[in-house]
Amino acid sequence: MSETQQPIERRFQGVGVSPGIARGTVFVIRPEDEELPTRKIDESEIPGELARFEAALVKTREQILEMQQRIAESIGTKDASIFDAHLLVVEDRTLIDEVLRTLDRDRWNIEHVFHQVASRYAKTLSEIDDPYLRERALDINDVCRRVLRNLMGHEAKSPAQIDVPHILVAHNLTPSDTAQLNRKLVLGFATDVGSRTSHTAIMARSLNIPAVVALRNVSEGLLTGDHVLLDGYSGLVIINPSDQTLWEYGELEVKKSAVDVKLDELRETISTTLDGRHIALSANIELPSDVELVKQSGAEGIGLYRTEFFYLNKEELPNEEEQYENYCIVAREMGNQSVIIRTLDLGGDKFMSALQLPAELNPFLGWRAIRFCLERVDVFKTQLRAILRASALGNIRMMFPMISGVDELRRANAVLEECRQELRNEGIPFNEEMEVGAMIEVPSAALVADLLAKECDFFSIGTNDLIQYTIAVDRINERIAHLYEPTHPAIIRLIKIIVNAAHAHNLWVGVCGEMAGEISLTPLLVGLGVDELSTGAALVPRVKRAVQSLDVGVCLQLVDEVKNMESAEAILEKCEAVAKTYYPELMV
Ligand code: PEP
Ligand code: MG
Repeated sequence: MSETQQPIERRFQGVGVSPGIARGTVFVIRPEDEELPTRKIDESEIPGELARFEAALVKTREQILEMQQRIAESIGTKDASIFDAHLLVVEDRTLIDEVLRTLDRDRWNIEHVFHQVASRYAKTLSEIDDPYLRERALDINDVCRRVLRNLMGHEAKSPAQIDVPHILVAHNLTPSDTAQLNRKLVLGFATDVGSRTSHTAIMARSLNIPAVVALRNVSEGLLTGDHVLLDGYSGLVIINPSDQTLWEYGELEVKKSAVDVKLDELRETISTTLDGRHIALSANIELPSDVELVKQSGAEGIGLYRTEFFYLNKEELPNEEEQYENYCIVAREMGNQSVIIRTLDLGGDKFMSALQLPAELNPFLGWRAIRFCLERVDVFKTQLRAILRASALGNIRMMFPMISGVDELRRANAVLEECRQELRNEGIPFNEEMEVGAMIEVPSAALVADLLAKECDFFSIGTNDLIQYTIAVDRINERIAHLYEPTHPAIIRLIKIIVNAAHAHNLWVGVCGEMAGEISLTPLLVGLGVDELSTGAALVPRVKRAVQSLDVGVCLQLVDEVKNMESAEAILEKCEAVAKTYYPELMV
């Protein structure tokens, strides 16, 4: 427990899902720690914290003795003797003295101090090659949890309330946890599970928080207070980075920021190819507060506003007025630029407690998005009325998620028409010409795109879902992430079918899934004839640079070369080769 030698650098490899480099102190959240209160205390509070600590130790001792007694009575004293080791923990002078010293020196509340010291103690013991000491480590963890529960009573704290800058480490973060993160305090985050197209990852990119997921056991391997460097580009978390590592990352940051400065200069320019084809470049948002970054990015508008995030962290469903206010903020901020509001896409990996959606075995194939809205017409109409009303103020378009066929789109349009009629009757203004689109993210919709095209004004391809449903690869399951291939020949064929159907009916077609932000795939999407690309704000300048460096002829030739290829990997290589030829500086 005393000071050790120079700490050794260790690396965890995962998947980088939000670019950037963060350095700082780790804050680990384990399920049992979620309630752990953490705050700085004054010197005058130390006696009170000590008294609470003593009381918690006494209570823990009583509980262990009571348990020992019960076990002895029911199954015998031999089994009950395992609790002797637990009793030794509450009386362990080395542990208790270290807690007292740390409390006096660092001045955090006692729960935080005890948790830190006990975890470190247990970890040190577990790393020693001695079965007896490893057993002791397990005892310490067990008793530590008990002491903490006794200390905490009902005080609760959520991850969003940690009030010092930190790198958040957890087994998993839900999209709603992520939506609540404070981007000023959370320097980066790392999780054991997760994938690139989960809404947690998408949210991290929108918030511009560097993030690494799919690290498997990082939440077990790190302790609160550890120093790490998190590399959101290549998916590394480096604990105790050496001087050499820090130097290398310093160099990398210099290179990256030189590219960023150049990209910054593109803000006011238009994303037009070398031979003059304009590809509308928009940004995706989850919350109105994301608009600030969108404006800085030089996007031409908002191509996807994922409205469900406004619902996620609420006790009750937001009413029409609240939603209207929300959409008006975005519409006003964006002035005459287009804002595409996507109607509620709850379900899948996004749930709202107020709605108590039933647990399903396959939530991504279940009662989500438009399926939910067409049954809960009350919820749907509230949102549609709010969107229509906001359309009187700005350049608003709207689209429905998860459309799987014509009938569904007609039913959604019919509910929309009902809302229009209600507003007309009430004399409330809205834009009668507001464009209404369908997201194409289910293979069945792609295959009947020619029929859907007669029922709407535009298509937006949601490649995140289109890929998961076409290849049957759960988009948030890191075990099968290697099968999630945007350049799978089936995806390319489906995109072509959608674009052809749209253009044959004079509709424009965008891509708003994560594929739109992959600069190695820009030549492919341009070659396939896509009219708009919408991506996280942070990626907009890169995509713009890519578009401006390309020639449509080159992109068409690429599509011609890959259209009959069999392997996703080989197609990706071809795409990367074009990207490296035309914008090598972005492909570092
Ligand atoms: C998509 O599926 O590609 C999409 C943009 O929608 P979401 O990621 O919100 O499901
Ligand atoms: Mg989707």
